[in-house]
Amino acid sequence: MEGRTCLITGASKGIGRGIAEHLGESGANVAVNYRSSVEEAEEVVETIEDSGGQAIATRADVTGRREVEAMRDEIHDAFGPIDVLVNNAGITQDTKFEEMTREEWDTVIDVHLGGAFNCTQTFFDDIKQSEYGRLISISSIVGKQGNFGQANYAAAKSGLFGFVRTLALELAESGSTANCVAPGFTETSMLETVPDRVREVILEDIPLNRFGSIDDVACVVEFLASEESSYITGEVLDVNGGMDL
Ligand code: NAP
Repeated sequence: MEGRTCLITGASKGIGRGIAEHLGESGANVAVNYRSSVEEAEEVVETIEDSGGQAIATRADVTGRREVEAMRDEIHDAFGPIDVLVNNAGITQDTKFEEMTREEWDTVIDVHLGGAFNCTQTFFDDIKQSEYGRLISISSIVGKQGNFGQANYAAAKSGLFGFVRTLALELAESGSTANCVAPGFTETSMLETVPDRVREVILEDIPLNRFGSIDDVACVVEFLASEESSYITGEVLDVNGGMDL
């Protein structure tokens, strides 16, 4: 990945952090986006620099187009155009659909789909013009199967499937690719919010009998970001321990 620049949204923690560190170790210049966790984002930058890579922390709420455009200027000043965009930033606001407010619906849709829109459109020319342009969106098993109490999140994550399939078609002429990675239940702060009794029920549905690790997901994203994945586009790669078999 040497000489390539990657932007990972929501890279201050969890899966995004793991992806940023993997790409940094593989020699890429990494833009570590965060919304509020500045100290954590700076730690990620330090970890990448300690492993010999180059990185910057760059603040932007992905739901704000102007903030995303300011982030583009900051990244261009530091590294020039990007080659790889990973739309990873995400939140949950879980509640049964009959009790879900319109605000809870809109907030979750706006981070996952509004954020993907803002970031992809802002960096579209970069990805299109790169010799190895890569758009990677982090979806979820929940986008395929649904999940009790997550109508907003499931709708957003399903939406990403159609989004990348369409972008795969629109980017194809340039040789750039667009794919989704759909993790199963992965050990991050997002999973910590799930009560123990629900975790036990989920575990029973995972044939490999464990939750995913951040590395399980980051390795697959690193592959999709690499030159070796050049002939894969419009795909959804499941990383879920066999949950969807
Ligand atoms: P996490 O540990 O809660 O981290 C979420 C990251 O997203 C943080 O860095 C946070 O930044 C950032 N973020 C949230 N809203 C943002 C916004 N509006 N603008 C910019 N950044 C924002 O979550 P995670 O578990 O690693 O999840 C990462 C992605 O994987 C999400 O898209 C999630 O839906 C997906 N996923 C997770 C699982 C799982 O089981 N954990 C499974 C399938 C898919 P700040 O802290 O700075 O606000």
